[in-house]
Amino acid sequence: MSEHETALWWARRDLRVHDNYALTHAARADDVLPVYVFDPGNYGEREYGGPESFAFEKTGVRRARFVVESVRDLRESLRDGGNDLLVARESPARALAGVAEAVDADVVYCERYPTPEEHDARAAVEAALPEGTRLATRWGSTLYHPEDLPMAVADVPDTFTPFRRDVEHAPDCEPRDPLDEPALPPVPDALADGDLDAGTIPTPTDLGVADATDWRAVAPTDERAVLPFDGGETRGLERVREYVWQRDRLRQYKQTRNGLLGSDYSSKFSPWLAHGCLSPRYVNREVEAYERERVANDSTYWLGFELLWRDFFQFQFAKHGSQHFQRDGIRERDDVEWTGSDRLLDAWKRGETGVPFVDANMRELNATGYMSNRGRQNAASFLANNCRVDWRRGAAYFETVLVDYDPASNYGNWAYQSQVGNDARDSYFDVVKQARRYDSDADYVKRWCPELEPLPPEYAHEPWTMTPAEQEAHGVVLGEDYPEPVLNLAASYEKLR
Ligand SMILES: Cc1cc2nc3c(=O)[nH]c(=O)nc-3n(C[C@H](O)[C@H](O)[C@H](O)COP(=O)(O)OP(=O)(O)OC[C@H]3O[C@@H](n4cnc5c(N)ncnc54)[C@H](O)[C@@H]3O)c2cc1C
Repeated sequence: MSEHETALWWARRDLRVHDNYALTHAARADDVLPVYVFDPGNYGEREYGGPESFAFEKTGVRRARFVVESVRDLRESLRDGGNDLLVARESPARALAGVAEAVDADVVYCERYPTPEEHDARAAVEAALPEGTRLATRWGSTLYHPEDLPMAVADVPDTFTPFRRDVEHAPDCEPRDPLDEPALPPVPDALADGDLDAGTIPTPTDLGVADATDWRAVAPTDERAVLPFDGGETRGLERVREYVWQRDRLRQYKQTRNGLLGSDYSSKFSPWLAHGCLSPRYVNREVEAYERERVANDSTYWLGFELLWRDFFQFQFAKHGSQHFQRDGIRERDDVEWTGSDRLLDAWKRGETGVPFVDANMRELNATGYMSNRGRQNAASFLANNCRVDWRRGAAYFETVLVDYDPASNYGNWAYQSQVGNDARDSYFDVVKQARRYDSDADYVKRWCPELEPLPPEYAHEPWTMTPAEQEAHGVVLGEDYPEPVLNLAASYEKLR
């Protein structure tokens, strides 16, 4: 190896300069070139393999916008630090091999993830690198480092509670301190001299995202959105300051987290965490500072509890790999009769099932790219348990549309709700009971299904219980103003009991 070391940092779903292991290691070289690759495989239509495979759109316009904004923000931060970000649009293997060759790189640093697609992309890059360039990976996306867990990843329990107890009670198991933003060495000469082009950042339209002909039209999003969700580390860090310190909402998080309306019932950190604009260890440090300076209570504990759920799913995928994406799940359940019903699936996607709590949540998702945790649990349980539509179709739709899509969190939660994943019990949600409990005055369903506005809350949640005369009297006629239910809900629960 030459004395002079040149490193590439392949930015993946770690689009930040704070607390970034891969970047920090790369920045120890004599020169470093950060590279982000828009992989065409992540955009456009894709096939979901396995039994009864189906096609789905990999990335919807809102998440594409979030990624584009995050990459732009990262480039600005790196330029402020005296460096740059090279942006390419081809397969990561081709792009990184080409850049490594052009700058005569000794090493490529990148973050490592537990999920198969991310693993395959890394393996392809490693195989394509020129002789003399090695790939070095770092784990950095979880609150707890896998090496600090009290058990090997292969032995992580398949249910959350024993995992949490083991982690919380292990004497030496603590989240690591976040790393400071590293001082950056210069870019390699080839970029500085103009022999290599830094590349332009594409728009969602350039990426070929469906419905993105006027992608700017999706920003700002629907005025009913809980937040605009602008991409990038700058905005992610701002959201932490805003939610924790300025608006002082952490002290009530446990009481408000099951809310449905407004920006502050929960943290809304998920899009920034999912794209790595925010580090979970940074969030944890802010929570600890808040506990010292303001208050330590069940709410401050609970945010860490939820971040542990996030870790749990990451480690589950590290343990079980692609089994989590299979229809029978890690429980290998071949006793469930799934249907591929397009009628039920399409009604669910459009938010026209005739079950208002489900419809309101799906309409919010379609209009904004976000849905609350309470909504996700109910929407998923309804499709998988009541409709018995192959849960992978619902999960793939969430994959397309969610701004905060994360493979392990999405497919892990879906499998869990669909009774094929990390839940030993065969639980399901009673969507009407949930609606009455969490939306007692029906404000939420009326926000997203305004045609139900004239109804008192009990009918707004169960419009099918109105007689034809009552429908006329309220001016909400089923089948005309609002859909008839796509299925007999009571009968579907009978089958589940
Ligand atoms: C069917 C289904 C699909 C989901 N898909 C995703 C997904 O693709 N990406 C995603 O980040 N979350 C997903 N979740 C988890 C959860 O709904 C969201 O993380 C949460 O609603 C985001 O809002 P928030 O940041 O305000 O959460 P908060 O309540 O403020 O929680 C703080 C953070 O903890 C983490 N978290 C909370 N609950 C969970 C959970 N159940 N599983 C994993 N992490 C959690 C998130 O990173 C979140 O940002 C899914 C849940 C369900 C039921």
